[in-house]
Amino acid sequence: MSRFWSDHLADLTPYVAGEQPKSVTNLLKLNTNEHPYGPSPRALEAIKHAASDRLRLYPDNESVKLRAAIAQLHDLDIKQVFVGNGSDEVLAHIFNGLFRRSGRALLMPDITYSFYRTYCTLYQIPVQLVPLADDFSIRVDDYTQAHSVEPAGIIFSNPNAPTGIALTLDDIRAIAAANPDIPVVVDEAYVDFGAETAIALLKEYDNIVVVHTLSKSRSLAGLRVGFAVADSQVIQGLNRVKDSFNSYPLDVLAQAGAVAALEDTAYFKQMCQAVIDARTQLTEQLTGLGFQVLPSKTNFVFARHPKFEGAALAQALREQNILVRHFKLPRIDQFLRITVGTLEDCERLCNSLVKILEKTY
Ligand SMILES: *Cc1c(COP(=O)(O)O)cnc(C)c1O
Repeated sequence: MSRFWSDHLADLTPYVAGEQPKSVTNLLKLNTNEHPYGPSPRALEAIKHAASDRLRLYPDNESVKLRAAIAQLHDLDIKQVFVGNGSDEVLAHIFNGLFRRSGRALLMPDITYSFYRTYCTLYQIPVQLVPLADDFSIRVDDYTQAHSVEPAGIIFSNPNAPTGIALTLDDIRAIAAANPDIPVVVDEAYVDFGAETAIALLKEYDNIVVVHTLSKSRSLAGLRVGFAVADSQVIQGLNRVKDSFNSYPLDVLAQAGAVAALEDTAYFKQMCQAVIDARTQLTEQLTGLGFQVLPSKTNFVFARHPKFEGAALAQALREQNILVRHFKLPRIDQFLRITVGTLEDCERLCNSLVKILEKTY
């Protein structure tokens, strides 16, 4: 700690992302929910085309083409679309712009995307954790009952991370309807792998904010593009934050690549389906090995073995050059979060697990 730091820096606990090893041969990386297949070839083509002399110019600070593509895809007005440098940045602006409400607490599940807690410390927003049910699902009633003090807002991922479990559209509708005067933010980073998006509810409720990323289902984690859709006045607020921070969050290449990726519906559907099929197979294989696997609507599975410590299994896999994510957190420290790879990746993982489980018996 340096004496030059601002006061609140000492108390910050930064988010710790899954490891990105520099170069290990034969490494199977199932720890950060990246897509096993590459992005749309049309996106790569568009990025190459955009890499020209024109890079001497600033990008479109309003990302009009990209926002128009998102609006068209989801049947929205362009004024309802906000884009950012990855959905993490979009979320940061949401916390800053919507949840700093004179000391009122933000409601979120005790187990959800851990970055939310980090943003709360960064922006000094009190947190009220709502425990998941014993089966790790979000209990809708906890969010629809009257609150003794009005919260600053509600946020959760749907499907939730790292559990993989999804709420239905009716559940989300109930939560939005019961909380008309606070923002209800639904982080749909994994929604394309089998859950229902809440975007259609924007026609009925002006308090819903839905956040998406191109990092997972569009296989563009390296390009850094995310977006939020909401009522146009909510979006206006987010633009105020953005333009007081960095008015050019998306570079020329990112805007071009993202538009092309969003337009390639056929490729997108095919790649999502490949992951869903591999997930079904991986779930069966892990269950066969004695794992309890939570019902996943994402590109990862969350699983625990009744006879083996989660941390020990993660370490044993690591020794076989397979990375999975393990969280040293209450309630979930017996679990492994395993990204769904190709069918071959899943085979290799399961073969290694068979050896590890045999050895330790
Ligand atoms: C991966 C992830 C994000 C962040 O995605 P980026 O767009 O890459 O910043 C946000 N929320 C959840 C739940 C995620 O899993």
